[in-house]
Amino acid sequence: MLVLDAVLTEELAALEGTRRRRVLRASARGGAATVKRGEREYISFSCNDYLGLSQHPAVKAAAIRAIEEYGAGAGASRLVTGNCPLYAELESLLAEMKGTEAACVFNSGYAANLGVISALMGKQDLVLFDRLAHASLIDGAMLSGAAWLRFKHNDTADCERLLAGARAAHRRCMVVTETVFSMDGDRAPIAALLEVARKYDAWLLTDDAHGFGIFNGSPASPPAHLQTGTLSKAVGAGGGYVCGSQPLVEYLHSAARPLVYSTGLPPAVIGAALAACRLMREEAELCAMPLRNAAFFCGLLGLPAPESAVVPLVMGDEARALDAAARLEEAGFLAAAIRPPTVPPGTSRLRFAFSALHREEDIERLAALIRVAGWCRR
Ligand SMILES: *Cc1c(COP(=O)(O)O)cnc(C)c1O
Repeated sequence: MLVLDAVLTEELAALEGTRRRRVLRASARGGAATVKRGEREYISFSCNDYLGLSQHPAVKAAAIRAIEEYGAGAGASRLVTGNCPLYAELESLLAEMKGTEAACVFNSGYAANLGVISALMGKQDLVLFDRLAHASLIDGAMLSGAAWLRFKHNDTADCERLLAGARAAHRRCMVVTETVFSMDGDRAPIAALLEVARKYDAWLLTDDAHGFGIFNGSPASPPAHLQTGTLSKAVGAGGGYVCGSQPLVEYLHSAARPLVYSTGLPPAVIGAALAACRLMREEAELCAMPLRNAAFFCGLLGLPAPESAVVPLVMGDEARALDAAARLEEAGFLAAAIRPPTVPPGTSRLRFAFSALHREEDIERLAALIRVAGWCRR
């Protein structure tokens, strides 16, 4: 007999043994780049709220207004009666910001990726991923039943090699990558990938979860066929999006399972996302700050100039990364230890996400700690 709790206790012990067990900790965010755990306040380098918009008075006020006007919950799927009027405003703004005909908002970035890939692809099709692509992109392909292959990270030639070998045996083909890699902070060669995708009659999907809000106004996102992303990071609210052509978005309304079979977002979340996107469009100075802070940090430690607001410090095994995170925590800083399966084995790391709200003196103190600990072998 399989006693559920006995089975799971064994699983948990195995995770503990490899230091891959994950636990939840109550974390109260508020104000600037700080997080309170219990009685202690930390400076967080782990939040993806790059612009601090989740705490912005205009964004909070928009959320409250939306609740007062429409209530706390959506009440049904968007396809039924859950399609709050704020969706249309948010979607036309997103399409404008991304330079596409249309946009479709989902309940999360995860749901957007799952929804669009599984709606477009099927058993006769092929999905090619960058080796470091986010779990939500891979899960979308799994749900679709398509065949899938992974190309070497940011390696267009390897992608082309796989296309040359496998494209002809499949009906549709999709190449999938991130604009900014969430755990490495480097950027994909979008223009080159787009060229290769076109050559092999494939569609390119780019996930801009960590680029949106950081690279606005600069041509960081040449128009891939499908652009996805989240409203939960720099936008500071919640939800995700797919931007692309009008037929794409109309098709998603009928075929994307996470859209069809899940209740719409609470109006407060849509109102907050809308207000935050409007701020992002207007505040170029604010949007430039996360990258500037990341560059300041890298300069202090002699690291190469960052390509985004995400800076990894690869430590090696799980124990080293966890111990380093614990030492930073003792000193009042939160920087998550990222371990497999989120990153490949042997590349456990500290991941620093820089925000517009970080103060120079805090970045200096953090860098000094890292230097003294000798975690930065440069
Ligand atoms: C965070 C993230 C997502 C998921 O977005 P959520 O809105 O948090 O569900 C998808 N893709 C990438 C690359 C991410 O980093």
